[in-house]
Amino acid sequence: MQSAPDSTRLPSYLNADQPGPWAMFLQQLDRVEPHLGELARWTDTLRRPKRTLVVDVPVRMDDGRIVHFEGFRVQHNLSRGPGKGGVRFHPAVNLSEVMALSGWMTIKNAAVNLPYGGAKGGVRVDPAQLTRGELERLTRRYTSELGDLIGAERDIPAPDVGTNDQVMAWMMDTYAINHGSMQTGVVTGKPITMGGSLGRRDATGRGCYVVAREAMRRLGMQVAGSRVTVQGFGNVGNAAARVFHDEGARVVALQDVGGTLLNEAGIDPHDLLRHLREAGGTWANYPRATLLPADDFWAVPCEVLVPAALEGQITPEVATRIRARLIVEGANGPTTPEAEDMLHGQGCTVLPDVLANAGGVTVSYFEWVQNATSFFWTEQDINARLDRVLSEAFDSIWHIAQERRVNLRTATFITACSRVLEARAMRGLYP
Ligand code: NAD
Repeated sequence: MQSAPDSTRLPSYLNADQPGPWAMFLQQLDRVEPHLGELARWTDTLRRPKRTLVVDVPVRMDDGRIVHFEGFRVQHNLSRGPGKGGVRFHPAVNLSEVMALSGWMTIKNAAVNLPYGGAKGGVRVDPAQLTRGELERLTRRYTSELGDLIGAERDIPAPDVGTNDQVMAWMMDTYAINHGSMQTGVVTGKPITMGGSLGRRDATGRGCYVVAREAMRRLGMQVAGSRVTVQGFGNVGNAAARVFHDEGARVVALQDVGGTLLNEAGIDPHDLLRHLREAGGTWANYPRATLLPADDFWAVPCEVLVPAALEGQITPEVATRIRARLIVEGANGPTTPEAEDMLHGQGCTVLPDVLANAGGVTVSYFEWVQNATSFFWTEQDINARLDRVLSEAFDSIWHIAQERRVNLRTATFITACSRVLEARAMRGLYP
């Protein structure tokens, strides 16, 4: 006799026992569930993605070989609008990671009240090992395999680790050719000349600063003169470092795969960027800072620490060495739940990724709105609107944290899950 289906069991590919980002996301949902009241009956909706696509991406390499890459797109939840989330090209991409990243997009988009669901995509590849031609063919084949799953009203990709505005341009072009019509809003983070938005490139890093500034005000801290350390000097980390520097903070340590730099008087990130762009300019030969062993980065005394590289960086072992008062999660999932509990015990406030790095998707939303109306805003306008959206989101989340006596991550999840599940309950089940 067949046993009755157990509705509480997760599908086999959602194994919650495997450590990793998806297990972390499920743990975060467990923490929010007791705060959701009547809506908690819908929480299981968030414990499984709505749609999961795994595709084979065969690419003809320059030397004539055909290499197969694994591609993914996950639409975690579409209750509040089309899917929205980046595309990652990285050798460690796997289904569990893409599912978690798509879940965090559902939370992030709802936390700042954007009319989107959550999605994410990726290809398991090291883009640095590909020639430009190989990268273009990979991007076009991946986009083609996504078929009708994406679209300006369906699911809108954007850049993430290992992808950029050029990759978005190829995605848009491939989609336009396959569909026989131009839809600029099918991807965001495009080059400015093809319907991209001013301010998008720096938006995630700028958003980290805005949310940190608001938190510092509540915690009685000053931005001017405060010591900031940043891990990751890519899209997010380098913009965050520049904005903190421009607003009067002292960027005392910076870390990237190229090295770890320390200068207690402050490093000028504009100057470091110029140096790295010069012929022969490396982290190791930067003359205006000291090179540190990578492991020493975490113990550098500072007021604000911005992890802006990859997930899982701040483990309990790392947390014991951190001296910061505020952690601003520029990256997605950089702090493990155990490490976060320890940090709170040490009096350190963690500004969670789902709020701290929402600036990128907020300006992606502005780009999508500009594409829909074919009317483009000034950079000043965009930065002012970004500041307002994030400050208001921060304010309401801060109040929930105080009222319910929970940390800012749980408060952000309460705000977001309530919005998503309310929409879910109102829409009802079909049939
Ligand atoms: P990126 O590829 O531009 O930059 C990442 C940087 O981190 C690179 O410079 C890389 O060299 C460095 N790095 C990688 N591993 C490292 C390590 N172990 N130690 C130190 N440095 C390391 O990517 P990005 O777009 O800046 O994204 C960074 C993080 O921010 C990711 O978690 C991403 O999901 C998240 N994020 C990005 C955006 C966006 O708009 N780009 C938006 C929201 C969240």
